[in-house]
Amino acid sequence: MTSKVYLIPASLREGPGGVSHKARTLFRAAGMARCFKPNDFTAVKIHVGEHGNTTHIKADCLRGLIEELRALKTKPFLTDTSTLYSGRRHNAVDHAILAAEHGFSLENLGIPFIAPDGLFGTSETAVRIDCPLNKEVLVAYDIVRCQSILSCAHFTGHVAACAGATLKTIGMGCTSRKAKMRQHASLKPQVGDNCTLCGQCERYCPADAITLDQVKAHIDRDKCIGCAECVAVCRFDAVKYDWGAENPVLQKNVAEHALGVLKDKAGRACFFNFLLSITKDCDCFDNPDMPNIVPDIGIAASTDPVALDKASIDLVEQAGGDRLGALIGNKNLDYDAQISHAEAIGLGTARYELVEV
Ligand code: SF4
Ligand code: SF4
Repeated sequence: MTSKVYLIPASLREGPGGVSHKARTLFRAAGMARCFKPNDFTAVKIHVGEHGNTTHIKADCLRGLIEELRALKTKPFLTDTSTLYSGRRHNAVDHAILAAEHGFSLENLGIPFIAPDGLFGTSETAVRIDCPLNKEVLVAYDIVRCQSILSCAHFTGHVAACAGATLKTIGMGCTSRKAKMRQHASLKPQVGDNCTLCGQCERYCPADAITLDQVKAHIDRDKCIGCAECVAVCRFDAVKYDWGAENPVLQKNVAEHALGVLKDKAGRACFFNFLLSITKDCDCFDNPDMPNIVPDIGIAASTDPVALDKASIDLVEQAGGDRLGALIGNKNLDYDAQISHAEAIGLGTARYELVEV
């Protein structure tokens, strides 16, 4: 069995209005309207971009998709959950203000931004999945309560999961803080000898797991929740993961959590990967103007999240002439565990038919 993945070529050079038009054309060509019914509360899953990040997908690129949902008489709302790390998306209030600053607001797009996991990322519902790593997962409360999902993921590399795309957006981005901690729990970083004792990691660690002595920073592995904040803030490349040993567990966890998020959304969710401004790191990084690892490709969409991510990775690797891990500067990183585990637990298929629009 194969799943259809629809692709429309696009470039940011067309401007947000042009990208929005392309996304709407794709929505119609792929017949995505079938996923939505009048009066649905429809979660439009987005990433508003961390404060300082300039390469996230801009709010105006989503206008056409939102207009399609409104024409279908659904009640769409922009949504994303609180992060583990302590940036501007760490709680619902700061997150909503940042979203508005980046144009993801009622004033600009005509629909509100609502965090589905409450003020502090603790509003959750346990969903039974009976998978190898997790018998149940903790999904953001209002993601379970809403009737349909339109997911808009920005395809990027990812420091821990290799690819930041739809599976990551759904599995990590639609679950509660406790669920995020469980997914990251296998990742335990270590500090190398090039530590300069700058103290940034100690300041930002949400688990108070880092202390400094006269020589370097040290991480208490029992306290560490594997959130990767220290990797993100260290400017001296001193914090290291054992990627080979731990990365596949994270990827499998993400796939299982995505299964939980989508458990009651069969036929009621569609997924878009924006293969534009494809950067080495994800939009949680506050670096401005991160360079692209490949030129803009377009927008891909499917009702099968596994086929969509596999097709998107293939497109990026074809454009870059190498494996994704190598393109983002870490040959030891791979995404195979995520795709194959997602397939094995019944989330979708990696076999796809690419339909160019
Ligand atoms: S942020 Fe990096 S350099 Fe600074 S103390 Fe932590 S490990 Fe050392
Ligand atoms: S030491 Fe662990 S908990 Fe602290 S920032 Fe690093 S990964 Fe997160």
